[in-house]
Amino acid sequence: MTNTPITEVPAHLRAAVDAAKQKVADLHAELPRWELVVWTAGNVSERVRDDRSPDGTGDLLVIKPSGLSYDDITAEAMVVCDLEGNLVEGDRAPSSDTAAHAYVYAHMPEVGGVVHTHSTYATAWAARGEEIPCVLTMMADEFGGPVPVGPFAIIGDDSIGRGIVETLRGSRSKAVLMQNHGPFTIGGDAKAAVKAAVLCEEVARAVHVSCQLGEPLPIAQEHVDALYDRYQNVYGQR
Ligand SMILES: [Zn+2]
Repeated sequence: MTNTPITEVPAHLRAAVDAAKQKVADLHAELPRWELVVWTAGNVSERVRDDRSPDGTGDLLVIKPSGLSYDDITAEAMVVCDLEGNLVEGDRAPSSDTAAHAYVYAHMPEVGGVVHTHSTYATAWAARGEEIPCVLTMMADEFGGPVPVGPFAIIGDDSIGRGIVETLRGSRSKAVLMQNHGPFTIGGDAKAAVKAAVLCEEVARAVHVSCQLGEPLPIAQEHVDALYDRYQNVYGQR
């Protein structure tokens, strides 16, 4: 045992980290497949829980390195960071969004996966700083209400992470539109966060089209609640 716990993956997390690297690499392929990203934009991360650290401070996250082409994504290329965003393992610098992902994991213990994209329609709502109103049953199912807008925040410190947490904590939504930036989504694991990113873009597109045709009809709160409860109980994470 060495005295460098934050500079290498602890032996008891080796298998979990390697599994997460494969899963996160595979899930990155979903972003271009669903046309959520261009060039190297976008990232998926997953938390690796350290069961020897009940307060979560020993947890790690696996994420894509900065500037890596989607054609070059492999499990081995993924990087590992601690929940302060420090690199623990990897040959490349972590994604420039790592601090935001790390802040979410550090402050929302229930979150196991985070996804960020600049998907076109969700980002268009973010550019207007306008929440997506809950006018579709699939929105009630997945997000339990409107998709909210988070504050304008500059990349480079933890202000994006803070804005995500302040907006989503206590909200049923798994997606937040960071103003003038784009969507961040969360889930119990990385796959659930990817699903939320795909559905966020889909509802952003459908509601945008609806708005071009007239005023979308709101769904009564009691129906939103019933749809959300049913969907989460039947299909939701356990
Ligand atoms: Zn971004």
